[in-house]
This record gives sequence, C-alpha cells and structure tokens, in this order.
Amino acid sequence: MKKLIISIIFIVTLASAAYALNKSYLGWVVGQAKTSEKVVALTFDDGPNKTYTPQVLEVLKKYNVKATFFICGAYAQYYPELVKQASADGHEIANHSFSHPNLFKNKAKRGAVLVNEVKQMNQLIEKLTMIKPAYFRAPYNYMGPETVKAINNIGLIYVSWTFSVKDWEKPAPAVMVDSFNKRLIPGSIVLLHDGGGNRANTVAALPGMIEAARKKGYRFVTLGELLK
Ligand SMILES: [Zn+2]
Repeated sequence: MKKLIISIIFIVTLASAAYALNKSYLGWVVGQAKTSEKVVALTFDDGPNKTYTPQVLEVLKKYNVKATFFICGAYAQYYPELVKQASADGHEIANHSFSHPNLFKNKAKRGAVLVNEVKQMNQLIEKLTMIKPAYFRAPYNYMGPETVKAINNIGLIYVSWTFSVKDWEKPAPAVMVDSFNKRLIPGSIVLLHDGGGNRANTVAALPGMIEAARKKGYRFVTLGELLK
C-alpha cells in the first residue's frame, strides 16, 4: 500500500513537473517554463564525449544555437577541454552527478552520498568554467523526495524535461525531427544526449530540429535564460 501511494505521488509529481516551474512538496522541480513566448531549451545529457560532443558543438555553432549540457565528472575529468569549449561557446553547463549512479537501484546513494558527488561535480564545473552551476538532473531522472530536497538544499534546482525524442533508442534522424516538431510548445525543455552511447543519429537530427523550430518562430535559449 505504501509503495502504491508513493508511486501515485511520483506520477502526480512527474505530471505537474512537466507543466510548470513549481515548488512541489518535493522541492524545486522544473519540467517546463511557464511562458507563451516561443522559446525552447535544448539539453544534452551524459557528456562530454570525445566523438559526439565536438559534433554537437559544431552544429550548434553553425546555427548559432545556445544549449545546456548536463555533464558527468567521470567524463569531464578526461575531456576538460570540451567542457571549457562548450562554456566558451556560450552554452550553459549543468550538473548530472559525478559517476552517474542509478538511484532507482542504489538506495544508499540517494541522499548524503549523492550530495557529496554533486558537490564534487559543482567544484569541477566551477573550476573549468568559472561559473557556478545552477541546475541538476539526476541520472535516469530519479526524482525521489530525499534526492530533490538534498539537491535544493545545496542551492541547485532540479531540472527534468518537457519531452524527449527518445534519442537513446537511436531512431532515424527524420523520425526524431518529426517527433520534436509535433511536441514542441512554448517553454519546452528538450532531453537529448551527446554521450553515453552512439549519438550519431542525434547529431544528424539536430539541424532538422533547429530548422523546424525556427520555421515556427522559435528561439533557442539556455536554461538560465528560459527560467530567469
Ligand atoms: Zn544520464
């Protein structure tokens, strides 16, 4: 019964998180900006990746699009130059934990242990970019109350997403562009990946997504701009 109640609370929270910047009983969770303005924030998880991050950065530069990268320390320590480059290009760097633990499976890491690695990750981001990160997204989007509250307590806002194009399933680029185009609404936060697997299709779909959004009059912004 307790599990059922917790599941219902989770679903309700996920649903509300998808529609507003709100302070739920969990804490500060953002899934979308409340705006009628045609703005959209692309977010890339699981980088930096030596193959795909430079390709993503190149496409974003070509189209003059600013995005947000939720990076992991486990990769950033090997490719610090990519983090520096992304930041220098005007992108925002956000915290996706150090070691990308699966908090659904690993209960012991949900509270204080996670906070320690998130703090460590914050320090690394600040060292590389000279900017203090403002946003956190848990690996696999785990939004348990103990995690969200702990994250809020160290000054980070938990950012989920409005929609994804399931790029981790590697659909054909045209399928991703179509999915993006159908789901796009003002204030969207879009989940994409530049690391954690083969992201060739994501890179190939990016120009189509950008062009489709611009055709509808959308402007691309970082999370900081979207949520200010
Ligand atoms: Zn991830």
